[in-house]
Amino acid sequence: MKKKLIVGNWKMNGSLQANADLVSGLLQGLPAPLNCGVGVAVPAAYLAQAQVLLQGSAIAVAAQDVSQHEKGAYTGEVSASMLQDFGVRYALVGHSERRQYHGETDAVVAAKAQAALAKGITPIVCVGETLQEREAGQTEQVVKRQLAAVIHHVGPCVSELVVAYEPVWAIGTGKTATPEQAQAVHAVLRAQLAAATAHAERVLLLYGGSMNAANAAQLLSQADIDGGLVGGASLKAAEFLQIIAVAN
Ligand code: 13P
Repeated sequence: MKKKLIVGNWKMNGSLQANADLVSGLLQGLPAPLNCGVGVAVPAAYLAQAQVLLQGSAIAVAAQDVSQHEKGAYTGEVSASMLQDFGVRYALVGHSERRQYHGETDAVVAAKAQAALAKGITPIVCVGETLQEREAGQTEQVVKRQLAAVIHHVGPCVSELVVAYEPVWAIGTGKTATPEQAQAVHAVLRAQLAAATAHAERVLLLYGGSMNAANAAQLLSQADIDGGLVGGASLKAAEFLQIIAVAN
C-alpha cells in the first residue's frame, strides 16, 4: 500500500523555544516503526533551526513558500536553492493564504512549483475553492483550473508533485469537509492527473482544512486521500502525533 504523508503547516507561528519544545515532543512520540511520511512546514526564519533539530530524524523539513525566481533583486524572497541549502524536502506552493493575501495567481504558483522541482524540492501544490465558489457550484472548475496551470507548466514532472486539496472555507474554521465531499474532489484531481501522466496513482493527494485527531481517521480512509496538510492541530505535539498514528 502507498505510504501516507502528514505535513504540519505551522503558518506564522512559533519561536525558537516553542519550536524546540514542539519538535522534541514529536520526536519522542513518533510511532515505531514509522510507516508514513511526516513533515513540518516551518516559517522561513526557522528553517536553519528546523534543519538542526530534525537532522537524522524521520521528520522532513518543509518550507511554506518558495520564490519563482532563481536569484537576484527580489527583496524578501527565498529561493529554491536557499531552501535546498537547508535540507528542505518539500515546499508548499499556492497556499490559499498566499493566493488571498499576497495576490498569487495560478501562473505564479505554477512557476513556483517549477522552481522547486528544478532544485529537487517536492512542491506541495495547494488548491481549493472559497465558500462562495462552492455555493455557486464552481468547486470542480476552480480546483481544475488551479491544478491545470501547474500541470501545463511542469510537463513531464507531474508525477513528482504532491497536491493538497484545501477548501478555503474549511481552513482554520473548525468546519471540515465531510469525507465524501473531500473524496469527491480528490477523485476529480486524480482523474485530471491521470490525463496528464501514466503515474497519477503515485501522486500523493493530501486533504487540508481543520483536520484534527477526531476526524483524521475518516478522512484518511477515503480511496483518494493519501494524507493530510494540518494547520492548527500541528502546533500541539500530542494532537499531531495522534494524526500521525492514524496515518501510520
Ligand atoms: P487548519 O488545519 O488550521 O484548518 O489549516 C489548514 C491549512 O491551511 C494547512 O495548510
